[in-house]
Amino acid sequence: MPPVSVELKRSVKAANDIVDVVSAYITVTPNGKTFKAVCPFHDDTRPSLQIDRHYQNFRCWACDAHGDAFDFVMKFEKVQFGEALRLLAERAHIVLAPEQCSPEDLARARLIQVMRWAEEQYSHCLLESQLASAARQYIGSRKLSGAFVRQFGLGFAPVTGDWLVRLANQEGIAPERLLEVGLIAARDGNRGFYDRFRDRVMFPIRDIRGRTVGFGGRVLPDSPLSVRGPKYYNSSDTPLFNKSELLYGLDLARHPGASAGFLAVVEGYTDVMMAHQCGVANVVATMGTALNARHVAQLRRYVPKVVLVFDSDDAGDSASSRALELFWSQNDFEIGIATLPDGADPCDLLSQPDGPDQFRQQLQNHKSVLDYKIDAMLAKYSAHSIEDTKRIVDSVLAVMALAPSIPSAAAQVKQELAISRLAHRLNLRQETVWARLGELRTEQRRRDANSHRSSSSFTQAPLTQTPPPAGGPPPAIERQLLEILLAEPTLVAEAVASVDPARLTHTGLRRVLTELYALHNVGERPDLDALRVRLIDRPDLAAAALRLQDVGRQIPERHEWFAKIVRRFAEQRAEVEKRRLKDQLAGGAVDEHAAVELLRRIQAGSA
Ligand SMILES: [Zn+2]
Repeated sequence: MPPVSVELKRSVKAANDIVDVVSAYITVTPNGKTFKAVCPFHDDTRPSLQIDRHYQNFRCWACDAHGDAFDFVMKFEKVQFGEALRLLAERAHIVLAPEQCSPEDLARARLIQVMRWAEEQYSHCLLESQLASAARQYIGSRKLSGAFVRQFGLGFAPVTGDWLVRLANQEGIAPERLLEVGLIAARDGNRGFYDRFRDRVMFPIRDIRGRTVGFGGRVLPDSPLSVRGPKYYNSSDTPLFNKSELLYGLDLARHPGASAGFLAVVEGYTDVMMAHQCGVANVVATMGTALNARHVAQLRRYVPKVVLVFDSDDAGDSASSRALELFWSQNDFEIGIATLPDGADPCDLLSQPDGPDQFRQQLQNHKSVLDYKIDAMLAKYSAHSIEDTKRIVDSVLAVMALAPSIPSAAAQVKQELAISRLAHRLNLRQETVWARLGELRTEQRRRDANSHRSSSSFTQAPLTQTPPPAGGPPPAIERQLLEILLAEPTLVAEAVASVDPARLTHTGLRRVLTELYALHNVGERPDLDALRVRLIDRPDLAAAALRLQDVGRQIPERHEWFAKIVRRFAEQRAEVEKRRLKDQLAGGAVDEHAAVELLRRIQAGSA
């Protein structure tokens, strides 16, 4: 970080009032001479954060977070001082000289700039170009109005394979910059670049401050390319764009959400747009993943509750179980579920004449996730027989049993309410339900202990079910590879290209690596959350992965280590190949010409 002059710091600070800065991130209300807000730095719903305009500082009475505007931005954005300075300067329209910025700041600024440029190109194409007539027709058929198409910055990437590449070329933008954000890709063998997005409507994905940090592309329904690729496709994860954390539309929905007291979560970009267009503005979407704890960590800054909108037919057991599990793991945060009539998706419903009213009504009539689960089970089992009742109770309690058995005060209240609700709904005595929860907890602890035994031996010794061929512990190189990939998911993309899972001798580790690759290949971020969903049948491996990640996070210079491990795998492969060729040669199953070729390859391998 280059030195920052005291004057610069002072003038940036003077240009940014702390109350304005904090209000840009969270909902702030006046409180006498000061202001208050729900602290974004600890789990809470009470307004413990005090913001003082006179002293230009903030303090949380619960977690003791405190400081000035710079400290707030650093803590909230999880950035260093230099980036906070840059953000606040930008906010106050103070232009920093390049030598006042660190390399990371400049890299981020470049990222934002290239995204803005790309957004302009796509948008211009959609609104003006001959190439986009089918796209305009498609958007028209979705009944999205021009004003909202502009507000959400929609664009179009034409079918030509190098449209964006050529535009960048004309404007002197280095292809590496588009490559970095995943808008273009390199052809094999140094033969230039091609557009990754073709014949797709482009949805800019914006961060909380409304800056475009990524794109989602939807292939046109009648496109010849629609049979070859996925319907939706995202640009690459970058330091600013993380698909499993971002929520589409949150920049526009957070204030309406704060007024409404909740945010609704739908699935599609067009669902979000249509809701906003119909005047229901407290609506966001996840980016192709289920709502997770990281989403909640952001959302609770603005609202105490979310309502998940399920199409009635996709309201599967697993989606509601996952929501229930998330609900138990989040103190002071409510999760509701709203179901749309007749399995309509939000966009379809909203475009009906009385759709917006119906949609609003369904959101208002949402059920708590607990009631939703009970109802779903009641619909499935009659609860007339003891067996059925037990099944229903267990399906709800099993999720609760995963939560810590000594809960916080808030979680305790939540549990008591849930138990009394469950007992009431099923005509059981509360004591009976508590007793069953106790039994399930004991069973869960036993399972944990078992999986702990097998997974703590995981790093030193083989898993009982899956011994490696040699019967020894997983080779260090295999364990280290997973430690690093789990701690540094961005490296999975490189690993896919250089380490074949078949090379792993430990079957447990091989399974973990295979699942990480599978996530990468479908465009999901290959992180622990996503991995655990895929390892639902192997809780022992999921637990082991968590421990491997912990170890990995302790490893400094993971990129260097990773490079070494990849080299070691390559050497091993060369060894094996050499041995195979020697065997072939010794076996005499080759003619003279082939023998010479084999000898040459063995020597090249040993050189
Ligand atoms: Zn706090």
